[in-house]
Amino acid sequence: NLTDRLESTFKKLRGHGRLTEENIQEAMGEVRTALLEADVNFGVVKEFIASVTEKAIGREVLTSLSPGQQVVKVVHDELVELLGSQAEPLKLDGRQPVVIMLAGLQGSGKTTTAAKLAKQLKEKGRAPFLVPADVYRPAAIEQLHVLGEQVGVPVYASTTEQKPVDIARQAVAEARTGHYDTVIIDTAGRLHVDEALMAELQEISRTVPLAEVLFVADAMTGQDAVTVADKFNTDLEITGVVLTKMEGDARGGAALSVKKVTGKPIKFVGVGESVEALEVFHPDRAASRILGMGDVLSLIEKAEAVVDQKNAERLAKKIQKNAFTLEDFLDQIQQIKKMGTLEQIMGMIPGINKLKQLKDAPKPDQKELVKTEAIIRSMTLKERRNHRIIDASRRVRIANGSGTSVAEVNRVLKSYTMMLKMMKNLKGKGIVSGGKRRKL
Ligand code: GDP
Ligand code: MG
Repeated sequence: NLTDRLESTFKKLRGHGRLTEENIQEAMGEVRTALLEADVNFGVVKEFIASVTEKAIGREVLTSLSPGQQVVKVVHDELVELLGSQAEPLKLDGRQPVVIMLAGLQGSGKTTTAAKLAKQLKEKGRAPFLVPADVYRPAAIEQLHVLGEQVGVPVYASTTEQKPVDIARQAVAEARTGHYDTVIIDTAGRLHVDEALMAELQEISRTVPLAEVLFVADAMTGQDAVTVADKFNTDLEITGVVLTKMEGDARGGAALSVKKVTGKPIKFVGVGESVEALEVFHPDRAASRILGMGDVLSLIEKAEAVVDQKNAERLAKKIQKNAFTLEDFLDQIQQIKKMGTLEQIMGMIPGINKLKQLKDAPKPDQKELVKTEAIIRSMTLKERRNHRIIDASRRVRIANGSGTSVAEVNRVLKSYTMMLKMMKNLKGKGIVSGGKRRKL
């Protein structure tokens, strides 16, 4: 995936101080190839790269991220924007009943999506009415009746003798008398875009007031889906897109291009054949998926929010000078409470993140941390700066002051001295040099 691809480029970037035009160009070469391989439209890729490059160059350097991570973040943010920034709900507030028409090629998933949508709307407390307007195949009408029964939503009784436009008009009238508030019209599809089909859909849109015209496309058809979407949008003024069979398309290239080319939001994605398998489309999740890096990103965000690289460097200096006191320990505990484990904090210190030793370091849970904090806070400044003076009577006082026990005070002191020992060890091996350090 894209992240793997970028890894090697980023390794090269890591040595550099900041993002320059040159190293960004190099990374963008990788992004370009990856997007094209993910079947994103060429024009879209070109525009995307230009925009990301412009944003990445001269971007403020975040102390908590490596240059590589920063590029990933810029790419991610730009992807989210390209995909529509945020989820776009259906427009259901207009004159009731609202009418939703589904259109698209044959086999794209219109009939299935109609039932899935009806199910979701029903669960939200609306009263949907399913309308089969694919009169060319008796099986198509029957298919919607079967699905309607499955999701417990009434289906208009169309026949193959009716014209689609008449079905639409009569169904809307029936919805009014039957107190349905949402009419979902399932239309016919062809194997290719076809003038007769377009004329039929246009006639429906002229006859009944449509709140939504959702273009349904099979995501696995990639660039074809984009071309067809463009054509439907021109001829029919679609209001949104449903991409089906997304569970099979790990690349997500169609999603990127469809939004860009039509300017219409992706509202839902189909992720399976069952009637439950319809999800609201979330641009940020889709972007992470395209980058193949859900975890990586949340880590970056976490780091960005709380990690203080300078603090880590300060710690490194203290280790270097053998001056890591209980006060510093308290500092670290507060950091750990914010971002996770000691291992992660230590990992921020250049040079020691790969040490296996860290895996054996104590990983206290949240409750332990709170207790440890209370214990250190009950110590005097003198005690915090020199743990050696903490004798038995002082331990009793600290335990009482912190509402803990002497045994617990002992444990805190022990894990502190263990940490000291471990740090000395690192220093002895010359891993924490205190001298040259990665600059960001
Ligand atoms: P239509 O011709 O546009 O009405 O398409 P259908 O709704 O009949 O769907 C065509 C085929 O695609 C059927 O076998 C559906 O079960 C299948 N299908 C529809 N949506 C999805 C989806 O999101 N994922 C998967 N895997 N299959 C889907
Ligand atoms: Mg159908």
